[in-house]
Amino acid sequence: MKEDEALGTEEDFFENAPCGCALLHLDGTVQRTNAVLLKLLGRPRETLSAFKIHHVLSRAGAIYYDTQFEPALRLRGSLKEVAFDLVRLTGERVPVLASANLHRNVDGEPDGIRLTVFEASERRLYENELLQSRNRAERMADVVQNTTDAVVGLNPDGTIQSWNNGAETMFGFGHTEVIGRELVEVILSEQRHDDIRGVLELLRRGENVTRDTIGQHKSGRSIDLSLNLTPHMEAPGTLVAFSAIVRDISSRKLTEKALLQSEKLASVGRLASSIAHEINNPLESITNLLYILDTLATDPEVKGYVNAAQDEVARVSQIATHTLRFHRQSTKQTSLNVEDLFQSTLVLYRARLLNANIVPTIDRSDGAPLFCFEGELRQVMANLVGNAFDAMRTGGRLRLRSRQVTLWKSGEPGLRLTIADTGTGMTAETLEHLFEPFFSTKGIGGTGLGLWISQGLVEKNRGAIRVRSSVRPGTTGTVFCLSFAQHVVAKGSR
Ligand code: ADP
Ligand code: MG
Repeated sequence: MKEDEALGTEEDFFENAPCGCALLHLDGTVQRTNAVLLKLLGRPRETLSAFKIHHVLSRAGAIYYDTQFEPALRLRGSLKEVAFDLVRLTGERVPVLASANLHRNVDGEPDGIRLTVFEASERRLYENELLQSRNRAERMADVVQNTTDAVVGLNPDGTIQSWNNGAETMFGFGHTEVIGRELVEVILSEQRHDDIRGVLELLRRGENVTRDTIGQHKSGRSIDLSLNLTPHMEAPGTLVAFSAIVRDISSRKLTEKALLQSEKLASVGRLASSIAHEINNPLESITNLLYILDTLATDPEVKGYVNAAQDEVARVSQIATHTLRFHRQSTKQTSLNVEDLFQSTLVLYRARLLNANIVPTIDRSDGAPLFCFEGELRQVMANLVGNAFDAMRTGGRLRLRSRQVTLWKSGEPGLRLTIADTGTGMTAETLEHLFEPFFSTKGIGGTGLGLWISQGLVEKNRGAIRVRSSVRPGTTGTVFCLSFAQHVVAKGSR
């Protein structure tokens, strides 16, 4: 009686177990199944008489059962949570996790298999999602690691937790050199530390912070930076980490500065030309009055003074006219007499020419005109001749030349202007940076904009600018060559 009750309980347990259960013969024939398994399989009990487990597995599953599952079970006596797909009558597949025990008779011989089956659809779903989100996270990490922006993970105290490739390139420090160090110390120069330290307080309050500041490369070179700091909060108000995305904005800053500077120069130019214009009228009166004085004066001493005044006024008037000419904006291209271009450029520097012991020569050109935006070419010449003067503080020779040539690149006929000086010449390093905005070796005496602007203007006039220079003692000097295609001239003069 007592035993019967116990048996009854076991029966009950089998039937109502929270998982699918089956008793199999060793060859896989199903001896008994419980309700849960029947439900999983979507089959009525009758369809399972003398039925083999293989019939509810996929073909690959059946092969796997015979070649791996069953032999392993015989060897080890039990198997846990092996993934299978069960196939329903409808053909639909149900993912399950199967565990099995080998049952032995009293002699210890295996005589059956006990199988328990858990449905794993949900679990598979989770696993899939987990896998996908892990893939996403890995892809994301890859993007972060390799972006050109510096992306830095930080502990709440501001010390570095992670450091991507972009940060390595931007600051020159390897990953291992910076982990655990304070960010401000690594990327900012000493005097900039306070820029960022105060920011930590804002981050602790959960605020996003953006700051432009000046950072420092490992080599000491400074870099314009835009910092974007984002706090990561947990629980109410606890800063657990924050991240910094750092962007190198040096080139943007440089362009902004250049634009500002050239805008300033342009307005100075406009101002100068309006002044020149205003000066012209009184100047004409003075010229006329001096002329009258000259004719009236009988005393040779007075006449001498008047003539000297006339000379000086003539100079002022010449400067005023040239200033005007330089700043009159040309709106269309015209044929420019190159010899006149050279002459008028030298007039601009007349005072310096006299004082600096510089001998200018203009090579008689064959008179071919240059089709260009006149004002722009005047500006280019003024820049180049000005630089030549700067390079010849102790005197020297300046040679301006124009020649018709065949352009080596296109084989077209062209016009080449050369500006050659016997000044100091340029070192290889200067030559390398020559055309960069703000590159100057003249300290506060230079803006470093002359050649940068000149290059732009020459290119705008469809020309090219080239330079040769020597610092070899005895042969120091510099030659700038401007080449313009001549067919442009032909088109324009038609
Ligand atoms: P800036 O004249 O204001 O310095 P530029 O762009 O005109 O700026 O010239 C840049 C630099 O190139 C100069 O500072 C100088 O070092 C060098 N340079 C230009 N022209 C000459 C030249 N003819 N001889 C020697 N150095 C020159
Ligand atoms: Mg200059």
